[in-house]
Amino acid sequence: MFKYVFLIMVSAFLFGCNNHHSPTGRGQTLLFSSAEMQQLGEASFKQMKAQQPISKNKALTQYVNCIAMRITAQIPNDKGQWELVLFESPQVNAFALPGGYIGVYTGLLKVAKTPDQLAAVIGHEVAHVLANHGNEQVSRAQIKGVGLKIANIALDLGDVSNRDLYMAALGLGADVGYTLPFGREQESEADVLGLKLMAQAGFNPKASISLWQNMSKASGDAPFELLSTHPSNKNRITELQQHQAEVMPYYLARKKQNMRVCSVH
Ligand SMILES: [Zn+2]
Repeated sequence: MFKYVFLIMVSAFLFGCNNHHSPTGRGQTLLFSSAEMQQLGEASFKQMKAQQPISKNKALTQYVNCIAMRITAQIPNDKGQWELVLFESPQVNAFALPGGYIGVYTGLLKVAKTPDQLAAVIGHEVAHVLANHGNEQVSRAQIKGVGLKIANIALDLGDVSNRDLYMAALGLGADVGYTLPFGREQESEADVLGLKLMAQAGFNPKASISLWQNMSKASGDAPFELLSTHPSNKNRITELQQHQAEVMPYYLARKKQNMRVCSVH
């Protein structure tokens, strides 16, 4: 037993502490390659599409897609191949996965009521991917020894317990019944990066504040799925307010250009 723990610690040291840093400069332990994470994202998205009903509302899907594509167009050096699916579900939830996948639930549109508010959620989700938070979560789970082993990550998806854990680590906890919430520092990082992305895409960053206000007002006693994997805290809104001045110039500059208007028709 001790040997096993020791080996995990050594491998965590060898593969983990190799100077990974998040976009905000925070040290990260990432045990998986980006190719492995992309495989995991792709396999998880396939599974979501097979298990969850997909919205047949074309206008609504186009509306959500329009917002998502404006956001992902702002990612530097991105191949621009993001796939979006609008799931038909009362869940107040959304996610983004490594490899370029975004899932939005129709239930979210009742809380994210305007294009700018929806852009705040999508920007936040995409920021989790850009900052390798999924990799960090799976790596943490592995170091804690929650039954994961370094193996072919895609093959491991066949094993239900591993699959659920991987998917939970990617922020899909509400759907696999195993919540592995993002940490506070990851949430705050996704807020800051997401805010910049939405502003650069021409969405009013102030909407991030009203979005989280809507979220806490509407969730009441039964917290939304999104909040179970993306825990909020009382500092979130203060932090978002503090970063407004810094991202507002991006928004104002972009607003002068003719942006594609995202609306439901
Ligand atoms: Zn989050």
